[in-house]
Amino acid sequence: MNFQEILNEQKEFFNSQKTKNVKFRKRALQQLKEAILKNEDLMYEAIYKDFGKSKFDTFTTEISFVLKEIEFYLKNLNSLSSPKKVRTNLANQLGSSKIYSEPLGNTLVIGAWNYPYQLSLSPLIAAVAAGNTCILKPSEVAENSMKAMAKIINENFPREYLFAVEGGVEEITGILELKFDKIFFTGSTKVGKIVYEAAAKNLTPVTLELGGKSPAIVAASANLEVAARRIVWGKFLNAGQTCVAPDYILVDERVKDSLVTSLKKYIQKFSYKADSEQYTQIINEKNFERLIKMIDPENVFYGGNFDARKRFIEPTILQNVTWEDSVMQEEIFGPILPVLTYKNFNEALLQISKHEKPLAAYLFTNNSEEKDLFTSRISFGGGCINDVVMHLSNDHLPFGGVGNSGIGNYHGKFGFDTFSHQKAILERTTWGEPDLKYPPYSQKKLTWIKRVL
Ligand code: NAD
Repeated sequence: MNFQEILNEQKEFFNSQKTKNVKFRKRALQQLKEAILKNEDLMYEAIYKDFGKSKFDTFTTEISFVLKEIEFYLKNLNSLSSPKKVRTNLANQLGSSKIYSEPLGNTLVIGAWNYPYQLSLSPLIAAVAAGNTCILKPSEVAENSMKAMAKIINENFPREYLFAVEGGVEEITGILELKFDKIFFTGSTKVGKIVYEAAAKNLTPVTLELGGKSPAIVAASANLEVAARRIVWGKFLNAGQTCVAPDYILVDERVKDSLVTSLKKYIQKFSYKADSEQYTQIINEKNFERLIKMIDPENVFYGGNFDARKRFIEPTILQNVTWEDSVMQEEIFGPILPVLTYKNFNEALLQISKHEKPLAAYLFTNNSEEKDLFTSRISFGGGCINDVVMHLSNDHLPFGGVGNSGIGNYHGKFGFDTFSHQKAILERTTWGEPDLKYPPYSQKKLTWIKRVL
């Protein structure tokens, strides 16, 4: 497939100015919403084939999420896209100043496999809302979901506007040689660096949504029942294959035994079984093999069983884990939950800050001083106090990482801004201007200028 040709068509289409019309954008969003609803069953079937993800999980974490983003833009697009009047300083009187949100142009979105619909379609929706064209490259790892999205996009939109690529590393490597106006990437830090390097050759701005090891701190004052129930839900959702899942627990040693007992209780209560509604498979053999190597039988407090035929790994809690253990050397991205302990809260924060900045961090506590220390002392993309994962479901909050976990953010208004350029315009009247700034200069003019500036 000739991607340069498709991009050329998209350049021409963007230059036709059609995408700048807000009604055009809203029609496209409406059309996408209808196409998703029409193909909902296909989407459920495809993702089930990819990794056994249930209809319930697919609706709550993927389809409803994508539809919510579309609704947000349909409702807010007029105000988001209208010029914002700002104050004008004395030196520019008589004049007025406005900020125009201008679409960046021809964009490329690269998705990850773990929430294939949400992570590919949400950035595409933001790109459309902001008035851009888009080439979407979903992850080939969730192959059936990728095909479902290609059908939805390519059967409902002309390729000079939106186009979904079915392909893998070879295709995306070729696409990355082309000159886009924006690249939005979701995936691993390792591939994020490849994308950043390719983008730098054309000075293309990037948003990189990456991963990392996201801690959940459980303090002595926490409501342990609430902490256990929420951590178990957030960790084993999608069998731990969630970028913002709590990667590991750091718990005050005084409450560690009570916490792990409660974690076990909720794992049993939530009934995570192979082939069940509430549990997904590990995406492929490669990841399955990578994960089971992280389970040191000596440290297993609960779980530890697996079935290669079904790519099933039981929810597993590891205890007596140290920072040196293999499970602490990389993002787990699976249903294995190491529990580490700390003696004092500041020491726990120090341990986190010695490692790369995580995408998310969570704190369970009832102590306001600890809440302040958590939000001010350690750097991470975003997170929750007394919950996990849910911050990303609030589209009034930006979602993104920092440092090794990413660059930039999106969701709601932030997605619109990510795909827009803020163009500054100062408009002057053609009357009422003193000649202070114009030559020839004089001491008198300087005295006045000093007063004005
Ligand atoms: P990945 O980096 O392997 O793949 C992501 C995308 O990059 C895919 O579309 C893939 O085709 C493409 N890709 C692969 N190799 C490439 C190459 N050499 N050059 C260019 N593109 C290439 O990541 P993944 O396995 O799909 O996802 C897992 C990672 O993504 C985890 O680290 C996870 O934390 C992270 N993640 C982050 C977020 C977030 O929102 N921040 C969301 C989901 C996943």
